[in-house]
Order: sequence, then C-alpha cells, then structure tokens
Amino acid sequence: MAAVIISMTNVNAQQKEYPKQEPMKPGMSEYWTPQPKVVTPGDIKTNTAPSDAIVLFDGKDLSAWTNGQGGPAEWIVKNGIVTVDKTKGDIVTKQEFGSFQLHLEWCVPADIEGESQARGNSGVFLQDKYEVQILDCYNNETYVNGMTGSIYKQTPPLVNVMRKPGEWNVYDIIYTAPIFKEDGTYLYHPYVTVIQNGVVLQNHTEIWGTTEYIGWPRVAPHGNGPIRLQMHGDPSKGISFRNMWIRPM
Ligand code: MG
Repeated sequence: MAAVIISMTNVNAQQKEYPKQEPMKPGMSEYWTPQPKVVTPGDIKTNTAPSDAIVLFDGKDLSAWTNGQGGPAEWIVKNGIVTVDKTKGDIVTKQEFGSFQLHLEWCVPADIEGESQARGNSGVFLQDKYEVQILDCYNNETYVNGMTGSIYKQTPPLVNVMRKPGEWNVYDIIYTAPIFKEDGTYLYHPYVTVIQNGVVLQNHTEIWGTTEYIGWPRVAPHGNGPIRLQMHGDPSKGISFRNMWIRPM
C-alpha cells in the first residue's frame, strides 16, 4: 500500500481560512482616458492623406524634398505625379523622422524594358539607411533578397504581389527606429512591416544593419533621418510616384 505524504505546509493551508479574492467586475479592467486623438482618414477616391499626416507629395511640387546635397529636388512633376529624372540623382525629405507609418504609390512605365535589377529599379531608404526595394518584379526574376519589398540584400518578401507595368502599386511601410547601446551596437534593432497592394511582404522584420551594395550590413549609431527615394543608374526608364505621406509615431 502506497504511503500518502502530505507536507506540513499543505496541512496548514488546509486548516487556516484566508480571505477570498474580491470578485472582478467588468469595469475594473476598463479605462477611458486618455482618449486617442481623432484622425480623419484619407479619401480613397481622391487619394488624400489622413488629417494628421505630413504630406510629402500631393501632386503639386517637391517642396518637401531636396537633392540631398543642399539643392532643390529636380525630378519631373507633371499631371499630379513625380517621375525619376535619371540625370538628377536621389531625392531626400527635408524633414527627418524616427518611427513612422509611410504611404507611397509608385508606377513602373508601361513600356519598361530590361531585366533583373535593370528594370524599374528605385527604392525607399528608411532613415536614409535601410532600403526597402522598389523594382518591376512583374514577370521579372532577380535575386530574391533584391526583389520588390525585400529589405535589400537582407530579407526577401513573403510573396510577389506586383501589378503590371503601367498600373499603380501601393506601399504602406510601418517602421520602428532602432535604439543603440553606448558601444554603438543595437539595443533594439530597427523593425519594418511592408504591405504592398494590401498584402504583407515583411511582417515586423528585423533589419540587420545598413543597406550595402557590396558586403554585409553595417551597424553604426544614428538618430532621426530623412526618407530617401533612389535614382537607380540602370538604363531603364524612371518610375513615377504619387500620394506620399508620413505619420511619425
Ligand atoms: Mg533599389
């Protein structure tokens, strides 16, 4: 017959009566303040920005941008869209940002030519350091960590959701800025979620370091930084952008 062992602690717990925990009421786990700020959403039909967004391009001019070298941004603004001028280099926002939500729409020319990376290549650099690739990947294969929606030379996109050349693609990018340790390495890496045409390409993806064309990502401490749009030097026609806005978080 097996012995039943009851510890002295258990014996005491069984004998002594303690007060019961107070019953929860619904209101005890609900709070009402502070109420989130009211934001009027953008109008889908007219492609307007939410009421609290900083408009980076509304179809009229590039006054929110420079050429990154102290001069004005000189890409071609026409009919409410801005098109890369391959002779004018990148464009860079005047304002610098930490964490943010970024919306932009981009279109590859219908008559685009070229293949792999030499076909509608551009890119959006987060804090001027980390590139989310823009490329015409419609029926155009390339190295997967250089595809549309890749963290360039790091992480491929989950899927390929490209629209045909001539049609508009929509990027919604949610970015969390890094925090650095005193020794200059990441305490918290930068993270990014990328949605193209309503489909998730990057789901809170850890960014390893800066975007390098040759070699591995580097880790170097930095503060806020601008958004940079890339003028890629390939011979294919420049792509266009419209309806760009950002919401710092
Ligand atoms: Mg690129």
